[in-house]
Amino acid sequence: PTPHIAVLGSANMDLVAYVAEAPRRGETVTGREFRTVPGGKGANQAIAAARAGATVSMIGAVGADTFGAQLRSSLEHSGVDTDLLRRVDTPTGTAHIVVDDEGGNAIVVVPGANGTVKGLTPGDEAVIASADALLLQLEIPLKGVLTAARAARRHGVRTVLTPAPAQPLPAELLAATDLLLPNEHEAAALTGITDDPPAAARTLLAQVPEVVITLGSQGSLYAARGAEPVTVPASRVTAVDTTGAGDTFAGTLAVALAEGKSVPDALHWASSAAALSVQRPGASASMPCRKEIDAQAAEAAARTTDGTPS
Ligand code: ATP
Repeated sequence: PTPHIAVLGSANMDLVAYVAEAPRRGETVTGREFRTVPGGKGANQAIAAARAGATVSMIGAVGADTFGAQLRSSLEHSGVDTDLLRRVDTPTGTAHIVVDDEGGNAIVVVPGANGTVKGLTPGDEAVIASADALLLQLEIPLKGVLTAARAARRHGVRTVLTPAPAQPLPAELLAATDLLLPNEHEAAALTGITDDPPAAARTLLAQVPEVVITLGSQGSLYAARGAEPVTVPASRVTAVDTTGAGDTFAGTLAVALAEGKSVPDALHWASSAAALSVQRPGASASMPCRKEIDAQAAEAAARTTDGTPS
C-alpha cells in the first residue's frame, strides 16, 4: 500500500538576489540576477515525500497573494494534497536571500502566514490520525508543532521532527517525538556537544527513542535506545547545490520507514535521494522521483558488493 505522510510546516517563497558583493548597511548595489524559488522546510519535505511515491497531505498556511498561489501550485505539481494548506489574511512567508560571488549568503526570513499556524482544525487532526507518519520542523510557531505532535501521539502516529532552525526544545515536544532528525549543527546546539555526533546522539537518546544526525557529505548516523549505532556514508558525488538536501533526506526517509524498509535500507534509500538532489540546482526542483531513487540506490548497493567504495 502507498504510504500516507502528513506534513505540518512552513511554505515560503525564497527571493534570491545574486550580487558580486553583498551590500553593507546604507549601501545600494546592483545585482546580477533575481530568482523566486518555492521553499520552506515543510513544503520541501512534502514535495520530497510525494516525489518518492507517498500520498502527502500538507498542513500549513499561505497568504491570499501571488506567492501563496505559486506555492500551492508548486506543491500540487509534485502531487501534494493542499486541501489543508490554509489561505489566510497575512502575506505568504518569504525568505530574502542575498548570494555573493563567493557563495556566501545573508538571509532574512519573514514568517508571515506561517506564523498563523498555531493549532489544528478537526480536519487537520483527522488527516494526521490516518497518516503513517507526521513530519514536523520548526519554521512555524512551537505551539502549532507541539499541538500536532501531541495529536499524532494520541493516534499512535510516528512523528519525525527536524529541529531546524535550531532552538531550545520543550521537554514535552521531545517526549512526543519518535524520531529526531537534526543535522550536525542542530545536534550540537541541542546538546552542547560539538564535533562528536555519536556522543551527541547518545545524549539525545535520553529524550527521544530514535535519532538520525545528518552529516552532509559525511553521510548520516542512526542511534536508537538499546541498539548499536548505524552509520551510512553519503554517496560520493559532485555537489552543485546542497540546498534542500536535508529536506530530501527527511521526506524520503519517512516514506521508506512507512513502507516497512529496515532502518539501514531506509537510510541508504534516503541518502541516495539526497545525493541525487545535491547534484542538481534548486531545493524542491532538484528532488528526485521514486524511479531515480531506486536506480541510484541499486547502483550504490552494486558498488558496495563490488568492493568499490561508493
Ligand atoms: P540543507 O540545510 O542544505 O538542506 P542539512 O544541513 O539539513 O541540509 P545535510 O546533513 O547537509 O543536511 O545533508 C543531508 C543528507 O544529504 C546527508 O546526510 C547526505 O546523505 C546528503 N548529502 C548532503 N551533502 C552531500 C554531498 N555533498 N554529497 C553527497 N550527499 C550529500
